[in-house]
Amino acid sequence: MFHYIFGPVPSRRLGRSLGVNVVPLKYCNFNCIYCQLGRTRYMINDLRMFYPPRDIIRELGVATRIRNYDYLTFIGDGEPTLYAGLGELIQWARNNQDKPLAILTNGAKLIDENVRTWLSELDVVKVSTDAGNERTFRLINRPHREITFDKFIEGIEKFRDIFNGQIWTEIMLVRGVNDNEDSAEHIGNALGRYRPDRVYLMVPTRPPAEPWVMPPTSEALITFAKVLSKYVNSDRIFIIDYIERGEFHIDKNDPVNSLLGILRIQPMTVEQVMDVIRRNNLDMAILDYVRKFTKEVMFNGIKYLVYSSE
Ligand code: SF4
Repeated sequence: MFHYIFGPVPSRRLGRSLGVNVVPLKYCNFNCIYCQLGRTRYMINDLRMFYPPRDIIRELGVATRIRNYDYLTFIGDGEPTLYAGLGELIQWARNNQDKPLAILTNGAKLIDENVRTWLSELDVVKVSTDAGNERTFRLINRPHREITFDKFIEGIEKFRDIFNGQIWTEIMLVRGVNDNEDSAEHIGNALGRYRPDRVYLMVPTRPPAEPWVMPPTSEALITFAKVLSKYVNSDRIFIIDYIERGEFHIDKNDPVNSLLGILRIQPMTVEQVMDVIRRNNLDMAILDYVRKFTKEVMFNGIKYLVYSSE
Protein backbone atom coordinates (compact mmCIF):
# COMPACT_ATOMS: atom_id res chain seq x y z
CA MET A 1 0.00 0.00 0.00
CA PHE A 2 1.18 3.51 -0.83
CA HIS A 3 0.94 6.48 1.56
CA TYR A 4 2.16 9.21 -0.75
CA ILE A 5 1.40 7.97 -4.27
CA PHE A 6 -2.10 7.75 -5.68
CA GLY A 7 -3.69 6.90 -8.99
CA PRO A 8 -3.13 7.25 -11.84
CA VAL A 9 -6.25 9.36 -11.93
CA PRO A 10 -7.78 10.89 -15.07
CA SER A 11 -6.71 14.53 -15.13
CA ARG A 12 -8.47 17.20 -17.15
CA ARG A 13 -5.06 18.43 -18.34
CA LEU A 14 -2.49 15.67 -17.85
CA GLY A 15 -4.13 12.45 -19.06
CA ARG A 16 -3.34 9.57 -16.67
CA SER A 17 -1.64 11.37 -13.84
CA LEU A 18 0.29 9.45 -11.18
CA GLY A 19 0.13 11.72 -8.16
CA VAL A 20 2.76 12.26 -5.48
CA ASN A 21 1.15 13.88 -2.46
CA VAL A 22 3.83 15.73 -0.50
CA VAL A 23 1.85 17.95 1.89
CA PRO A 24 -0.57 16.91 4.64
CA LEU A 25 -4.11 18.34 4.91
CA LYS A 26 -4.25 21.32 4.77
CA TYR A 27 -1.09 23.38 4.84
CA CYS A 28 -1.28 26.17 2.31
CA ASN A 29 -0.26 29.77 1.76
CA PHE A 30 -3.65 30.46 0.12
CA ASN A 31 -7.17 29.87 1.40
CA CYS A 32 -9.09 29.87 -1.89
CA ILE A 33 -12.83 30.24 -1.63
CA TYR A 34 -13.29 27.43 -4.20
CA CYS A 35 -10.76 24.96 -2.71
CA GLN A 36 -11.99 21.38 -2.96
CA LEU A 37 -9.97 20.47 0.16
CA GLY A 38 -11.98 22.81 2.38
CA ARG A 39 -10.66 25.82 4.27
CA THR A 40 -6.93 26.09 5.01
CA ARG A 41 -6.19 24.83 8.52
CA TYR A 42 -2.52 25.74 8.66
CA MET A 43 -1.79 28.99 6.87
CA ILE A 44 2.01 28.95 6.46
CA ASN A 45 4.47 30.45 4.00
CA ASP A 46 7.71 28.81 5.16
CA LEU A 47 9.00 25.49 3.83
CA ARG A 48 8.59 22.43 6.06
CA MET A 49 9.98 18.89 5.95
CA PHE A 50 6.57 17.26 6.34
CA TYR A 51 7.86 13.76 5.55
CA PRO A 52 11.31 12.17 5.17
CA PRO A 53 12.09 12.31 1.40
CA ARG A 54 13.52 8.76 1.52
CA ASP A 55 10.06 7.38 2.47
CA ILE A 56 8.45 9.00 -0.58
CA ILE A 57 11.35 7.96 -2.83
CA ARG A 58 10.96 4.36 -1.68
CA GLU A 59 7.31 4.41 -2.82
CA LEU A 60 8.19 6.22 -6.04
CA GLY A 61 10.69 3.47 -6.87
CA VAL A 62 7.91 0.86 -6.78
CA ALA A 63 5.00 2.89 -8.18
CA THR A 64 6.87 4.21 -11.22
CA ARG A 65 7.73 0.60 -12.15
CA ILE A 66 4.29 -0.98 -11.74
CA ARG A 67 1.89 1.82 -12.71
CA ASN A 68 1.02 2.92 -16.24
CA TYR A 69 0.85 6.72 -16.41
CA ASP A 70 1.35 9.71 -18.70
CA TYR A 71 2.64 12.25 -16.17
CA LEU A 72 4.20 12.06 -12.73
CA THR A 73 2.57 14.94 -10.92
CA PHE A 74 3.58 16.58 -7.65
CA ILE A 75 0.63 17.75 -5.66
CA GLY A 76 -0.39 18.20 -2.03
CA ASP A 77 -3.29 18.16 0.36
CA GLY A 78 -2.33 21.83 0.29
CA GLU A 79 0.47 23.67 -1.55
CA PRO A 80 3.25 21.27 -2.70
CA THR A 81 6.01 23.91 -2.91
CA LEU A 82 5.83 24.25 0.90
CA TYR A 83 7.52 20.83 1.16
CA ALA A 84 11.23 21.29 1.89
CA GLY A 85 12.09 17.89 0.35
CA LEU A 86 10.52 18.67 -3.03
CA GLY A 87 13.81 19.44 -4.81
CA GLU A 88 15.23 16.05 -3.83
CA LEU A 89 12.12 14.23 -5.10
CA ILE A 90 12.15 16.09 -8.42
CA GLN A 91 15.82 15.23 -8.89
CA TRP A 92 15.13 11.58 -8.13
CA ALA A 93 12.21 11.50 -10.57
CA ARG A 94 14.29 13.15 -13.29
CA ASN A 95 17.06 10.56 -12.92
CA ASN A 96 15.04 7.41 -12.31
CA GLN A 97 11.97 7.41 -14.55
CA ASP A 98 11.32 8.74 -18.05
CA LYS A 99 7.77 10.15 -18.01
CA PRO A 100 7.22 13.92 -18.04
CA LEU A 101 7.06 15.66 -14.68
CA ALA A 102 4.45 18.20 -13.63
CA ILE A 103 3.44 20.15 -10.56
CA LEU A 104 0.11 21.67 -9.64
CA THR A 105 1.05 24.73 -7.62
CA ASN A 106 -0.52 28.08 -6.89
CA GLY A 107 2.83 29.63 -7.89
CA ALA A 108 3.26 31.93 -4.90
CA LYS A 109 6.58 30.34 -3.77
CA LEU A 110 8.21 31.02 -7.16
CA ILE A 111 9.36 34.28 -5.59
CA ASP A 112 11.85 32.05 -3.70
CA GLU A 113 14.98 31.36 -5.79
CA ASN A 114 15.44 27.81 -4.44
CA VAL A 115 11.93 26.87 -5.41
CA ARG A 116 12.48 28.30 -8.90
CA THR A 117 15.62 26.18 -9.25
CA TRP A 118 13.81 22.98 -8.18
CA LEU A 119 10.84 23.56 -10.47
CA SER A 120 13.04 24.41 -13.44
CA GLU A 121 13.71 20.64 -13.75
CA LEU A 122 10.04 19.92 -14.50
CA ASP A 123 8.26 19.72 -17.86
CA VAL A 124 5.01 21.40 -16.87
CA VAL A 125 4.42 23.89 -14.08
CA LYS A 126 0.77 24.68 -13.59
CA VAL A 127 0.16 27.90 -11.65
CA SER A 128 -3.04 29.76 -10.76
CA THR A 129 -4.03 33.24 -11.91
CA ASP A 130 -7.53 33.77 -10.58
CA ALA A 131 -7.12 37.50 -10.14
CA GLY A 132 -5.56 40.44 -11.93
CA ASN A 133 -5.29 42.85 -9.01
CA GLU A 134 -4.71 42.93 -5.28
CA ARG A 135 -8.36 43.34 -4.35
CA THR A 136 -9.66 40.31 -6.27
CA PHE A 137 -6.56 38.31 -5.25
CA ARG A 138 -7.50 38.85 -1.59
CA LEU A 139 -11.16 38.04 -2.27
CA ILE A 140 -10.68 34.78 -4.14
CA ASN A 141 -7.30 33.37 -3.00
CA ARG A 142 -7.13 34.90 0.51
CA PRO A 143 -3.31 34.54 0.56
CA HIS A 144 -0.89 34.50 3.51
CA ARG A 145 -0.24 38.06 4.74
CA GLU A 146 3.35 37.98 3.38
CA ILE A 147 2.11 37.50 -0.19
CA THR A 148 1.06 40.46 -2.32
CA PHE A 149 -0.35 40.25 -5.82
CA ASP A 150 2.67 42.01 -7.33
CA LYS A 151 5.18 39.71 -5.62
CA PHE A 152 3.10 36.72 -6.70
CA ILE A 153 3.22 37.67 -10.40
CA GLU A 154 6.87 38.78 -10.09
CA GLY A 155 7.81 35.26 -8.89
CA ILE A 156 6.19 33.67 -11.96
CA GLU A 157 7.84 36.25 -14.25
CA LYS A 158 11.27 35.41 -12.81
CA PHE A 159 10.57 31.73 -13.28
CA ARG A 160 9.56 32.30 -16.92
CA ASP A 161 13.02 33.79 -17.52
CA ILE A 162 14.85 30.60 -16.50
CA PHE A 163 12.35 27.86 -17.43
CA ASN A 164 12.47 25.94 -20.70
CA GLY A 165 9.34 23.87 -20.07
CA GLN A 166 5.69 24.79 -20.27
CA ILE A 167 3.91 27.13 -17.89
CA TRP A 168 0.20 26.48 -17.81
CA THR A 169 -2.16 28.61 -15.83
CA GLU A 170 -5.55 27.91 -14.42
CA ILE A 171 -8.15 30.60 -13.91
CA MET A 172 -10.96 29.41 -11.67
CA LEU A 173 -14.00 31.53 -12.41
CA VAL A 174 -16.44 32.16 -9.58
CA ARG A 175 -19.77 33.81 -10.24
CA GLY A 176 -19.89 37.42 -9.07
CA VAL A 177 -16.24 37.40 -7.91
CA ASN A 178 -13.88 37.28 -10.91
CA ASP A 179 -16.09 36.36 -13.88
CA ASN A 180 -16.74 39.86 -15.25
CA GLU A 181 -15.14 41.65 -18.21
CA ASP A 182 -13.05 43.99 -16.03
CA SER A 183 -11.56 41.03 -14.26
CA ALA A 184 -10.76 39.39 -17.62
CA GLU A 185 -8.90 42.57 -18.68
CA HIS A 186 -6.88 42.66 -15.45
CA ILE A 187 -6.03 38.96 -15.60
CA GLY A 188 -5.12 39.36 -19.29
CA ASN A 189 -2.62 42.05 -18.29
CA ALA A 190 -1.13 39.81 -15.60
CA LEU A 191 -0.77 36.93 -18.09
CA GLY A 192 1.01 39.33 -20.46
CA ARG A 193 3.74 39.63 -17.81
CA TYR A 194 4.70 35.95 -17.85
CA ARG A 195 3.25 34.61 -21.13
CA PRO A 196 1.77 31.20 -20.20
CA ASP A 197 1.88 28.44 -22.83
CA ARG A 198 -1.68 27.42 -22.03
CA VAL A 199 -4.57 29.00 -20.16
CA TYR A 200 -7.28 26.81 -18.67
CA LEU A 201 -10.54 28.52 -17.83
CA MET A 202 -12.01 26.41 -15.08
CA VAL A 203 -15.29 26.45 -13.20
CA PRO A 204 -15.87 24.89 -9.78
CA THR A 205 -17.11 21.34 -10.41
CA ARG A 206 -16.46 19.90 -6.96
CA PRO A 207 -17.73 21.07 -3.56
CA PRO A 208 -15.91 24.32 -2.67
CA ALA A 209 -14.54 25.58 0.68
CA GLU A 210 -17.23 28.26 0.79
CA PRO A 211 -20.73 26.93 0.14
CA TRP A 212 -21.87 30.13 -1.63
CA VAL A 213 -19.32 29.68 -4.44
CA MET A 214 -21.07 29.08 -7.77
CA PRO A 215 -19.83 28.55 -11.33
CA PRO A 216 -20.28 31.43 -13.80
CA THR A 217 -23.08 31.33 -16.36
CA SER A 218 -22.15 29.95 -19.80
CA GLU A 219 -22.54 33.47 -21.24
CA ALA A 220 -20.11 34.94 -18.70
CA LEU A 221 -17.63 32.14 -19.42
CA ILE A 222 -17.71 32.76 -23.18
CA THR A 223 -17.45 36.54 -22.77
CA PHE A 224 -14.52 36.10 -20.40
CA ALA A 225 -12.72 33.88 -22.93
CA LYS A 226 -13.33 36.44 -25.69
CA VAL A 227 -11.88 39.30 -23.64
CA LEU A 228 -8.90 37.17 -22.64
CA SER A 229 -8.18 36.36 -26.28
CA LYS A 230 -7.06 40.00 -26.71
CA TYR A 231 -4.09 39.13 -24.47
CA VAL A 232 -3.47 35.43 -25.17
CA ASN A 233 -3.74 33.70 -28.53
CA SER A 234 -7.12 31.93 -28.50
CA ASP A 235 -5.57 28.59 -29.52
CA ARG A 236 -3.87 28.62 -26.11
CA ILE A 237 -7.14 29.05 -24.19
CA PHE A 238 -9.02 25.93 -23.11
CA ILE A 239 -12.35 25.91 -21.34
CA ILE A 240 -12.78 23.08 -18.82
CA ASP A 241 -16.27 23.11 -17.39
CA TYR A 242 -16.92 19.40 -16.91
CA ILE A 243 -16.10 16.66 -14.42
CA GLU A 244 -13.30 14.24 -15.34
CA ARG A 245 -14.24 11.17 -17.27
CA GLY A 246 -11.94 8.20 -17.49
CA GLU A 247 -10.58 5.49 -15.27
CA PHE A 248 -9.28 5.88 -11.74
CA HIS A 249 -6.64 3.29 -11.01
CA ILE A 250 -6.88 1.48 -7.69
CA ASP A 251 -4.86 -1.31 -6.13
CA LYS A 252 -7.16 -4.37 -6.14
CA ASN A 253 -5.30 -5.79 -3.16
CA ASP A 254 -6.06 -2.71 -1.11
CA PRO A 255 -9.09 -1.10 -2.76
CA VAL A 256 -10.36 0.84 0.24
CA ASN A 257 -7.08 2.58 0.97
CA SER A 258 -6.46 3.29 -2.71
CA LEU A 259 -9.88 4.88 -3.00
CA LEU A 260 -9.34 6.89 0.16
CA GLY A 261 -5.93 7.99 -1.21
CA ILE A 262 -7.71 9.53 -4.21
CA LEU A 263 -10.53 10.97 -2.10
CA ARG A 264 -8.04 12.68 0.20
CA ILE A 265 -6.87 14.77 -2.72
CA GLN A 266 -10.13 15.26 -4.62
CA PRO A 267 -13.82 14.66 -3.96
CA MET A 268 -15.41 12.04 -6.25
CA THR A 269 -19.02 11.71 -7.26
CA VAL A 270 -20.83 8.71 -5.78
CA GLU A 271 -21.20 7.51 -9.39
CA GLN A 272 -17.44 7.63 -9.93
CA VAL A 273 -16.80 5.55 -6.79
CA MET A 274 -19.44 2.99 -7.81
CA ASP A 275 -17.94 2.83 -11.29
CA VAL A 276 -14.48 2.02 -9.84
CA ILE A 277 -16.00 -0.74 -7.69
CA ARG A 278 -17.95 -2.22 -10.62
CA ARG A 279 -15.07 -2.12 -13.09
CA ASN A 280 -12.77 -3.90 -10.67
CA ASN A 281 -15.42 -6.54 -9.80
CA LEU A 282 -15.27 -5.55 -6.14
CA ASP A 283 -17.92 -5.85 -3.44
CA MET A 284 -20.31 -2.87 -3.30
CA ALA A 285 -19.96 -3.06 0.51
CA ILE A 286 -16.72 -1.13 -0.06
CA LEU A 287 -18.86 1.93 -0.73
CA ASP A 288 -20.32 1.69 2.80
CA TYR A 289 -16.83 1.47 4.23
CA VAL A 290 -15.63 4.45 2.21
CA ARG A 291 -18.63 6.42 3.47
CA LYS A 292 -17.29 6.13 7.04
CA PHE A 293 -14.34 8.35 6.07
CA THR A 294 -16.24 10.75 3.86
CA LYS A 295 -19.23 13.00 4.02
CA GLU A 296 -21.82 13.44 1.31
CA VAL A 297 -21.98 16.93 -0.13
CA MET A 298 -24.36 18.16 -2.84
CA PHE A 299 -22.84 20.67 -5.25
CA ASN A 300 -24.50 21.98 -8.38
CA GLY A 301 -27.08 19.16 -8.22
CA ILE A 302 -24.46 16.38 -8.02
CA LYS A 303 -23.72 14.21 -4.97
CA TYR A 304 -20.03 14.04 -3.97
CA LEU A 305 -18.10 12.08 -1.39
CA VAL A 306 -15.67 14.42 0.36
CA TYR A 307 -12.87 13.04 2.55
CA SER A 308 -13.39 13.90 6.17
CA SER A 309 -10.74 13.34 8.80
CA GLU A 310 -13.08 14.42 11.63
S1 SF4 B 1 -6.97 25.58 -4.20
FE1 SF4 B 1 -4.82 25.07 -3.93
S2 SF4 B 1 -3.86 27.03 -3.46
FE2 SF4 B 1 -6.05 27.32 -3.13
S3 SF4 B 1 -6.35 26.88 -0.94
FE3 SF4 B 1 -6.71 24.96 -2.05
S4 SF4 B 1 -4.76 23.91 -1.99
FE4 SF4 B 1 -4.35 26.05 -1.48
